Amino acid sequence: IDCSLTVVGSINADLTATTTRLPAAGETVGGGRLSRSPGGKGANQAAAAARLGARTRMIGAVGADSDGQAMLHALRAAGVNTDDIAEVAAETGAALIMVDADGENQIAVCEGANASVSLDGIEFGADEAVLTQLEISLDLISELATRVPGFLAVNAAPALPLPAEVVDRADLIIVNEYEHSQLPQLQTAKLVAVTYGAKGSALLARGEQIAFAEAVPAKPVSTVGAGDAYCAALTLGLTSGLEPERALRAANAVGAAVVKVASAQPQFDRFETYLSALD
Ligand code: ATP
Repeated sequence: IDCSLTVVGSINADLTATTTRLPAAGETVGGGRLSRSPGGKGANQAAAAARLGARTRMIGAVGADSDGQAMLHALRAAGVNTDDIAEVAAETGAALIMVDADGENQIAVCEGANASVSLDGIEFGADEAVLTQLEISLDLISELATRVPGFLAVNAAPALPLPAEVVDRADLIIVNEYEHSQLPQLQTAKLVAVTYGAKGSALLARGEQIAFAEAVPAKPVSTVGAGDAYCAALTLGLTSGLEPERALRAANAVGAAVVKVASAQPQFDRFETYLSALD
């Protein structure tokens, strides 16, 4: 795929406990299995885009700690250009994740260095797409809305009120079903993708559905990162000129590939492989 993508977003060290079921408030559930892995919506989206075959750079921030080094290493291993990731005087961001036997999850995020992401000194080209999410400051998303000359995609996750200038400017806004229910102002947005987990995803132009695609069946191991890979794939599909329904189907296939594995930054085939599997 011939596409340049810049991801502006969060980088987190994921600490995941896999348990038979999720604890209720105040409850302790034993017997968990612990794993550490690279995460953060921004880093997951950048790693997915690079592995799918896009020229990908990331703008973000990590702390001067071992988690930061490990996160940079994981991004480089995926093929992401990390030259514009700053090392700042804060802890690397972290996410504490619990996953149950059905792949359902609960997540607490500690933003740390992600609060210090800055666009100072960064240039954006007209021929590069920019993809961002809401784990960095909303002021930064507003700044992107004025500074990005090319295609701007915003994954409005987690569910936070989007500034009006971002809704007006974004070429694509991606939300899951819950986020969509929390953001009525998306009715007026140019193009909105809504993901419905195991049911699939839809594209809406100014509130009217223009395409829908069923999910690709997958036995879930962990859904963490499925939405992120979906965001990367849909942005690549739409900016490379795919028809809306085809772009949705390809993004669903990429999302399903993540659900089947434990990692939020798994290996992927090239984007073309998912496309040819649709025919
Ligand atoms: P995340 O759990 O990563 O935060 P999300 O809530 O942002 O995900 P979902 O709607 O759960 O997003 O998933 C994004 C896409 O991934 C879906 O539209 C679908 O294509 C694919 N997907 C997610 N869950 C499944 C599943 N159980 N089976 C098949 N495909 C899935």
